[in-house]
Amino acid sequence: MPSSLLIIYTGGTIGMVKDRETGALQPFRFENIYKMMPVLENFDYKIEGIAFTPLIDSSNVSPSFWVKLAEIIGSNYEKYDGFVILHGTDTMAYSASMLSFLLENLNKPVIFTGSQLPMGVVRTDGRDNFINAVEIAAARENGTPIVPEVAIYFENKLMRGNRTNKFNAENFNAFVSGNFPPLAEVGVHIKYNRNAILKPNFMNLKVHKKLDTNIAILKLFPGITESVVKSVLGIKGLKGVILETYGAGNAPTDEWFIAALTETIRKDIVIYNVTQCKGGSVEMGKYETSITLGQIGLVGGFDITTESATAKMMFLLGEGYRGDELKELLQTPLRGELTA
Ligand code: ASP
Repeated sequence: MPSSLLIIYTGGTIGMVKDRETGALQPFRFENIYKMMPVLENFDYKIEGIAFTPLIDSSNVSPSFWVKLAEIIGSNYEKYDGFVILHGTDTMAYSASMLSFLLENLNKPVIFTGSQLPMGVVRTDGRDNFINAVEIAAARENGTPIVPEVAIYFENKLMRGNRTNKFNAENFNAFVSGNFPPLAEVGVHIKYNRNAILKPNFMNLKVHKKLDTNIAILKLFPGITESVVKSVLGIKGLKGVILETYGAGNAPTDEWFIAALTETIRKDIVIYNVTQCKGGSVEMGKYETSITLGQIGLVGGFDITTESATAKMMFLLGEGYRGDELKELLQTPLRGELTA
């Protein structure tokens, strides 16, 4: 039986085409997808699509958008062999990370893609990205999908979604997965990196829908003032903080700074130590500037990205985890998002 795929078009640059009369860029109508990309008809797949209304620039992505996306996949899960999500690139790494947490026991491909140039532009990178994403979402071996996880396909590479960052606003090569090898590389052949791809567990999909947004990201910089740190840590209702530290998880040793963190942890607000680097891992205790952070109870994020840490924290808090259990889960890979 040929693979059946659901394309979910959410918005972003990829879907833009030129209006014949005005020449202005506007979102394409999904019904016209075969007209715009007749090459899709050459695939031996059953391809169906749905489009979000309204279509959004991904800067407007919100928790309700993520839940809606997860619900669409959940309610169509049995009907299709794989899913392709057309999404703006700006927050694609956040959305792919979040979907990886919301879709527990995912055993089918959910492939995000987009483009830097609109589909309606002759030189677009969208056509290749889309076609390869479709092929990867449909790929099966002995009846089992080859990539049963949430991934991003961009510019010849398939990456684990919760390991990526958008690092370039100009090049076609817009995403990086600094701490995890590509799941596949695409040239003449699609070469799957089978050792890196998550294995299916054949359990029933569970769609999570509760997210808690009472979190903050505090990025350190030399010269950060006490009032900035205290304002962020003092936010009413705050339950978790992602502290973006330097290098291997290092931070200033000033007394006021350590006291502010200690006081925050005492109020049962979890502080997740995530590095500002795009590659490498937090190792509290490696340098003198991080020993105290471990001692006062910061939770090390290992090599997790800020995008993935944000998604994971909203997800775990939404599921009601607190205290030691929350700390434990933050340090445990749940969907391949970190190397502990
Ligand atoms: N601003 C657009 C978005 O993220 C950019 C893109 O699609 O690449 O929706």
